[in-house]
Amino acid sequence: MRRRRPCARATNAGRARDACRRYALTAAMKRAVFRFYAELNDFLPPARRGVAFVHEFHGGQSVKDAIESLGVPHTEIDLVLADGESVDFSWILRDGARVSVYPVFESIDVAPLSRVRPAPLREVLFVLDGHLGRLARYLRMLGFDARWRSDADDEELARVSSAEHRILLTRDAGLLKRRIVTHGYRVRETDAPRQLAEVVHRLDLFRSILPFRRCLRCNDLLETVPKEDVACELPPRVRERHEAFRRCPSCRRVYWSGTHRRRMERLVSDLLAEGARPAPDLNTAPR
Ligand SMILES: [Zn+2]
Repeated sequence: MRRRRPCARATNAGRARDACRRYALTAAMKRAVFRFYAELNDFLPPARRGVAFVHEFHGGQSVKDAIESLGVPHTEIDLVLADGESVDFSWILRDGARVSVYPVFESIDVAPLSRVRPAPLREVLFVLDGHLGRLARYLRMLGFDARWRSDADDEELARVSSAEHRILLTRDAGLLKRRIVTHGYRVRETDAPRQLAEVVHRLDLFRSILPFRRCLRCNDLLETVPKEDVACELPPRVRERHEAFRRCPSCRRVYWSGTHRRRMERLVSDLLAEGARPAPDLNTAPR
């Protein structure tokens, strides 16, 4: 008995269907660019180490699944930036996204940035270069420990940053290239309030803001003092109008809720309101 050959028309239809299916699969393929930093590269094949490379995926993949499909265990990771913004592991990979993946303690203080952890791992400390005095005062206003001296030289800044695990803030990229500086961020903005917004957004500091607890001049934590202890140091109008006072244990400066403070409160509330919106795209990964 002769075997019946499938008719040519049916065969052609089958091929067309396969081609359609292949085309649909290719068309549905999305691409993201990944770059892994420091020792995370050990998990990658040599051609992908230390360089940005394209990862193809289908829709609906979380960044955690994508990272692990590339061979890097998520337990090694402390920070994921997608298009310059920190994201958590459940973030769904977007077509065209640029994803930077960092291990613990690489390059910047990843604790405040990282949303892969439920809460900051430790207190955020800063040291700022001599040109960033106003930014230091603003950071202190938000309650951050911000060391600054106008005459600190590069060597001292690098040493303090390294020894005290302080994030070094500077506009000088060269300073951040020093070998001992492992926690650093180059500030892009030039105007102090905008620098503050940049740093708060970029390092995702919203959860760590505790305003009006530090001396803006010395960086020390303020102490509450009874009115009678400071009454003789106050201008008469302040003595008449205010009841709550705090004092810096170092410089003895007395703080109260005046117009200056109300201006700052506006700045803080503006910042916090901005925190509810997506962070600005700075187009750059940390150095
Ligand atoms: Zn003080």
